[in-house]
Amino acid sequence: MALFITFEGIEGSGKSTQMELLKRHMEGRGMEVLALREPGGTRLGERVRSILLNSSEEPVDPWAELFLYEACRAQLVSLVIRPSLEAGTTVICDRFTDSTLAYQGYGRGLDLEAVDRANVLAAGGLKPDITVLIDCEAEEGLRRAWSRIGSKEGGAREDRFEREDVSFHRRVRDGYLRIAGAEPDRVKVVDGGGEISTIHREICYIIKKAGA
Ligand code: ADP
Repeated sequence: MALFITFEGIEGSGKSTQMELLKRHMEGRGMEVLALREPGGTRLGERVRSILLNSSEEPVDPWAELFLYEACRAQLVSLVIRPSLEAGTTVICDRFTDSTLAYQGYGRGLDLEAVDRANVLAAGGLKPDITVLIDCEAEEGLRRAWSRIGSKEGGAREDRFEREDVSFHRRVRDGYLRIAGAEPDRVKVVDGGGEISTIHREICYIIKKAGA
């Protein structure tokens, strides 16, 4: 069965590391897997991504930010995610609707119900079958994210959320944990503070139980 799996967590929690490992694991078992990231995954989405993650010319209004993310999502769901799932390909996405609720809702303070409604509209009601929330302390995530950036050629900074202070990331983390508490069947929390291989094993177990 083609599953729609999403990875969530604060910056530096280990999402891309674990997504790559899970993709390889599933492909090794003969499954067709498509890995995507939000915002992005379509031409429109990648263009908006560069606006969202690099814009420093003027402050971005939180509602403008919300709708840019939702525009990317609507495009990704209709052009890529739905057709892939219908064709039997499992889709793994780095961030989805929970990110918007955690960052724009809990982090920026936008009305949670409004964010939720925008999410439902943009995703056309599509919900992940399973969401892996890699829980990580804000300080640890930021430390990792900064050292990752430092190791990139030229030290390029791609993500504007990495410039937010630690209290913002704490609110986002707490928001994620609330989301997980409200939807325990869908959102599975793993401890991101452990070894990469241990976390990978735990995620494989979660996905297997979900029917992959
Ligand atoms: P994210 O995609 O959530 O921002 P990444 O997967 O890019 O996070 O990980 C950020 C950095 O932390 C990378 O340099 C990665 O190698 C490292 N990292 C990931 N998981 C762990 C872990 N469990 N323990 C220590 N370092 C980790």
